[in-house]
Amino acid sequence: MIPPGSTIGILGGGQLGRMLAVPIRQMGYGVAVLAPLGDAPALGLADHAIRASFDDLDAARRLAEFSDVVTYEFENVPAATARAVAERRPLHPSARLLELTQDRNREHDFLAGLGIATAPGREVHTVGEFDAALVALGMPARLKSALGGYDGGGQLRVHDAASASAARARIPTVEGGWRLEAEVPFERELSVIVARSGQELRAYAPFENQHQEGILHLTRWPARGSPRSLTRALEIAEAVAVAGDLCGVMCVEMFVGGDEVSVNELAPRVHNSGHLTIEGAAVSQFEQHVRAICGLPLGSPECRVGGVAMANVLGNVDRRHVRLGGAAALLAEPGVHLHLYGKDRERPRRKMGHVTALGVDADDAAARALRAAANLSFMGADRAE
Ligand code: AMP
Repeated sequence: MIPPGSTIGILGGGQLGRMLAVPIRQMGYGVAVLAPLGDAPALGLADHAIRASFDDLDAARRLAEFSDVVTYEFENVPAATARAVAERRPLHPSARLLELTQDRNREHDFLAGLGIATAPGREVHTVGEFDAALVALGMPARLKSALGGYDGGGQLRVHDAASASAARARIPTVEGGWRLEAEVPFERELSVIVARSGQELRAYAPFENQHQEGILHLTRWPARGSPRSLTRALEIAEAVAVAGDLCGVMCVEMFVGGDEVSVNELAPRVHNSGHLTIEGAAVSQFEQHVRAICGLPLGSPECRVGGVAMANVLGNVDRRHVRLGGAAALLAEPGVHLHLYGKDRERPRRKMGHVTALGVDADDAAARALRAAANLSFMGADRAE
């Protein structure tokens, strides 16, 4: 057990790290953050800030020296960095689980070994393999880089001759290869966030997610769907957590059609679809993660209200020193909460914040969250450089 008063290290300085730092501090732990130069919202909440790139092994070792336990808030931490930390301090979730989920092809093999369905797909390293896979899978398909994908990045949709030749031209351009996947005609997308610590396992009931251009747009909780599909989603997440020997929380993203559930991807960390647990659950995903990695009892993942929804607030243009307009009208609505990540630079489609709405049910909450988010707008502000 890592007692309060100890220090928790975080690899990564984004909004997930920032929201993780809130319960870390609340429970009396110190926070150490390693983040590269640039706009890193978690650094403002750090007791020890290390500004260095993620492949700087000396910096990773320094983070470990400051910390009693280390975690990460994004899964593209280089394997050598994770190992350098894990040689010195406990790293949760493990470097093994991190490496497994960094590569879409290894992730697929791991899931297949557990008898869990994924989108039909093939590992692709050469143009010849791409052509053969496209014939086997048909169009539309998605070409995804095996490493480094995030928020739909590193992904191409292949739906006609022109997009196929554009995708073919990309094959030699990345390290680590690709996965070509058939497009799944899903009815809805679900995610399950599961927490595990020692033998204790607690999962949040499934969240229902809508994406726009590969980026999460809206999450609603509880999710809609047949009782069988919802039960299967939970079973899958729990099986993955046990087989991956999870310590901490992880997110399993899934496609659902009827009663059939297949896994899209795994993220061994707190996740955007779980932000609504801050106001909506008895214990948030962030507090749950801290409890798990510190060996403390896990909290209740129950939904506290009839329904809750989260809408992401994305940037539109590229500019610095932004201010948010519309917050007063938003906060005049009961049960509506604003989270802004403190990023100084707005960029098109950058995650700047989110809105959570509590409602009588998920429909009500979703309508309120979307309405509230739609009335927000960023403005440039004059400030000396
Ligand atoms: P990813 O980065 O793999 O999570 O993909 C982002 C989003 O693109 C997913 O949440 C889906 O909405 C969509 N998507 C990805 N892969 C597929 C697929 N094989 N079939 C249909 N939609 C997909």
